[in-house]
Amino acid sequence: FLPHLVAAMVEVEETYIMIKPDGVQRGLVGEIISRFEKKGFKLTGLKLFQCPKELAQEHYKDLQSKPFFPKLIDYITSGPVVCMAWEGVGVVASARKLIGATNPLNAEPGTIRGDLAVQTGRNVVHGSDSPENGKREIALWFKEEELCEWAPVQEPWLKE
Ligand code: GDP
Ligand code: MG
Repeated sequence: FLPHLVAAMVEVEETYIMIKPDGVQRGLVGEIISRFEKKGFKLTGLKLFQCPKELAQEHYKDLQSKPFFPKLIDYITSGPVVCMAWEGVGVVASARKLIGATNPLNAEPGTIRGDLAVQTGRNVVHGSDSPENGKREIALWFKEEELCEWAPVQEPWLKE
């Protein structure tokens, strides 16, 4: 494929981004939101939320069998989280890049985890790992009426 054809194949996607309780407690909410805002993605949902245990278990159900699962559920439910839905071309993979590696010690400087965290068990932010999971997680964390479709005025300045 020619590069411009590959670029044209990347579609508008949705991703679920969540600032975990350590990010909220450490006062990193503004810092983290601004990284996605500055990149040029569109915020379509945002709320501060105390997550019930059942929801955390459903969200992380693929990790159920891992030894750290109970600790992960305790961590995610230990205080309020900030739930966000973001939309954009290629937003799922791009957000994962902005977030950085799962273990913050392996995350590149310039990424959220690379700049702001030191431990896997306190890695400040979640991002969906596929467009399918983006849709699944947004539906899990948000009610339909909590999401906003809107047209940012900056759009012509971001996309040719
Ligand atoms: P992510 O997609 O980069 O968030 O990573 P995973 O989907 O593999 O894991 C989900 C979350 O579980 C991570 O972000 C960590 O908060 C937590 N986690 C993953 N692996 C470990 C681990 O080995 N120990 C602990 N304590 N937590 C972990
Ligand atoms: Mg994951």
